[in-house]
Amino acid sequence: MTAFQLTPIGTSPAWYNPGEPNSGFLLEGNGTRVLVDCGSGVASRYLALFGADKPIDAIVLSHVHADHCFDLVPLKYGIDFGTLGSWNPELWLPPGARERLTKLVSAWDEDFSYFEETYDVREFGVDAAFDVGPFSVTALDVPHYIESKALRFELDETSFGYSSDLGPTPAIAPFMHGVDLLLAEAACSEDIDLDVPGRGHITATEAGRIAQEAGAHSLLLTHVPEELDYDRSRAAASAAFHGGPVHIARSGERYDIARRLAAVS
Ligand SMILES: [Zn+2]
Ligand SMILES: [Zn+2]
Repeated sequence: MTAFQLTPIGTSPAWYNPGEPNSGFLLEGNGTRVLVDCGSGVASRYLALFGADKPIDAIVLSHVHADHCFDLVPLKYGIDFGTLGSWNPELWLPPGARERLTKLVSAWDEDFSYFEETYDVREFGVDAAFDVGPFSVTALDVPHYIESKALRFELDETSFGYSSDLGPTPAIAPFMHGVDLLLAEAACSEDIDLDVPGRGHITATEAGRIAQEAGAHSLLLTHVPEELDYDRSRAAASAAFHGGPVHIARSGERYDIARRLAAVS
């Protein structure tokens, strides 16, 4: 069986759940480590979990909201001046990210070369698969407050899908068709007005519906504010997923993507 594993590094929404960094998810396969998103607190937590002698080979950003990219900065300094000097990660950016990151670092009078001097910067599109280490990756435009890309990773016969932050869209379930493990955000309360125009997040029920329509084997929820009640979110997603296995992603847990999660009663 292919060794394709996921370790959530951080799963908080745009604010912190206690003890959880913002978004960051480590994929491991064929000896390659790929970090999907790099929100605040992710680099420190990664080092605590894996250590400096386990370099990240590539970082792929879904979008450049703060909770998905801010730790690119301290990670850069760790590589430039700290204990991570042997690291040389690729940094895969979605369309438009270069301009937004340039605006970010202009706050301290830097330009985009600030990132290029540390990271091997690559850019991906949404019209063709691209290879990150052993993974074949595809991206889908999803509605959010800025450009956001759902991502799908394939390794041999095993597939992993990440919703990124997104509002409701009929395109997401076909994009995630048949994935072994779907990691979906569920930041919205079930109690809000779901018809609000331009909504940029989904509920746990909607995440469960995506898993059901996609024919996903298992569902992990992330970006769930603790105050929404994890048990309630998990139950709502599982009900929409026709009782399918649903877990709440937590930092440091490790999942074998090819193996179905156990159903939670
Ligand atoms: Zn977010
Ligand atoms: Zn976002």
